Amino acid sequence: MSGSEKHRDLRFVVIGAGMAGILSGIKLQEAGHRNVTIYEKADRIGGTWRENTYPGLTCDVPSHSYTYSFEPNPDWSRYLPPGAEIQDYFERTTRKYGVDKLIRFNEEIVSCEYRHGRWHIETRNGTRDEADVVIAATGVLHVPRYPDIDGIDDFEGAIFHTSRWDHSVPLDDRRIGVIGTGSTGVQIVSALSTRVKKLVHFQRTPQWIMPVENPEFTEEQKEAFRNDPELLKYMQNEPQYLANVERFTNAIVEPDSPAMEEIETIVRDYLENSVRDPELREKLRPSYRAACKRLIFSPDFYEAVQRPAVEVELGGIDRIEAKGVRMKDGTLHELDVIALATGFKADQFMRPMNVVGRHGVELNEVWGDTPRAYLSISIPDFPNLFMLNGPNGPVGNFSLIDIAEHQWHYVSQLIARLERGECAEICATHEALEQFDRDRIAAAKKTIFGSGCQSWYLDARGVPATWPWTQERFYQAMAEPDYTAYELVTRPGSSVESPRQEEVL
Ligand code: NAP
Repeated sequence: MSGSEKHRDLRFVVIGAGMAGILSGIKLQEAGHRNVTIYEKADRIGGTWRENTYPGLTCDVPSHSYTYSFEPNPDWSRYLPPGAEIQDYFERTTRKYGVDKLIRFNEEIVSCEYRHGRWHIETRNGTRDEADVVIAATGVLHVPRYPDIDGIDDFEGAIFHTSRWDHSVPLDDRRIGVIGTGSTGVQIVSALSTRVKKLVHFQRTPQWIMPVENPEFTEEQKEAFRNDPELLKYMQNEPQYLANVERFTNAIVEPDSPAMEEIETIVRDYLENSVRDPELREKLRPSYRAACKRLIFSPDFYEAVQRPAVEVELGGIDRIEAKGVRMKDGTLHELDVIALATGFKADQFMRPMNVVGRHGVELNEVWGDTPRAYLSISIPDFPNLFMLNGPNGPVGNFSLIDIAEHQWHYVSQLIARLERGECAEICATHEALEQFDRDRIAAAKKTIFGSGCQSWYLDARGVPATWPWTQERFYQAMAEPDYTAYELVTRPGSSVESPRQEEVL
């Protein structure tokens, strides 16, 4: 928008300096907004990639695809990016785009209330601020889920959640227990299997494993990426990878498709051909369909669990004792360290922050244990508050950066209406959210995620909470807002009549 078209200088508060918050800072500055503050509860940027530092931490999306579209990186060391390199990439990008100057660190927002047409913000330190627009970029998986296992406080060794890894605890030649078989548990077991004296992998539910190679990029390749922007662009949008993502996301929506059959064949063959001991093979064979839980991509997990130091334990855990983990059959696994790879509370989003919308409506009450948002972005009665990677958005084996960029494209069009003075408040209508939710739930039940397994994709009712349609449909939905789904409220002094105007003061 050119300066002459602008009507209002908006004040923005962005919550969180992770991938989506940094993106918001970059895009807001790019659009000419100067009145922007990003509040970050920690002392560093990075979100997920700051909090997770466990051994073996890797993103299972190819490095070159796991970048902002406008900021390719020629220096990735491998096909799949190690967590520390991703953190480094975000830190570099934050500095390069001057976003670091917008961030207030160690400021956790505890309250965000909409009063008299503005958001009133308060941090744990007592800092107060106001904003016309709030961007909630708080991430999806940021509240650790601790398992409800008796005796957990009795353990005499070191015990911690994987997103709170205690690097002061030695691991080499020690006896380690890993509880959990999600992407995190699998990566840790793979990384530690050669370093430890003994590693017990407690698998309440085995997982299907999709093989993937993870070669290093040679110095020559990196040099070529540095010198050839077209090649780097090609790597970011590598056609084979994009085709795989499209095929995979279509298969999720159509569990009986040949594409899903192909996925099932690959993971079954991988298990058959990789695990030599028939007893172990049967232990590792899941009883639900591939991709029902988030599919795990690993180059070396089956190799790791066949190492002599590794034991796969499928029996139920009875309790944790001073010396280790006691199984229901009475076996005691004596351990020095227990890593809780037990996942995250996936229904939190902005919470525990107290978010209060129009007329005193509390988000916690509105959401309960089934958070929802129109197109994952807007909530009725919470005007001028837009979410990136909010509830009901696409999550899966693809880049959430790509998802956030499309969401930003959409949100920026809502912001532009506010900026042009076409309305003072904008949020989805109740009708639009209800319709969206009805359609979403009907479709979600038919996806592979709803085919009969437990996973963090399911809400408290057991319905997949994720985007249940194709990626293509998501891109189309994000291209341009349908304003009939929005309530646009004008106030005296707003310069342009909106199509559906209503006075609320
Ligand atoms: P997760 O997928 O939710 O897995 C949690 C694991 O803990 C499951 O195996 C679960 O067993 C087990 N568990 C939970 N409570 C337990 C209990 N009381 N006793 C025994 N086992 C228990 O968590 P995650 O592995 O941390 O991964 C979460 C998500 O983070 C992933 O799905 C992914 O989206 C993201 N992630 C991505 C990458 C990447 O490479 N891109 C890497 C790591 C994580 P059940 O299956 O029986 O419930």
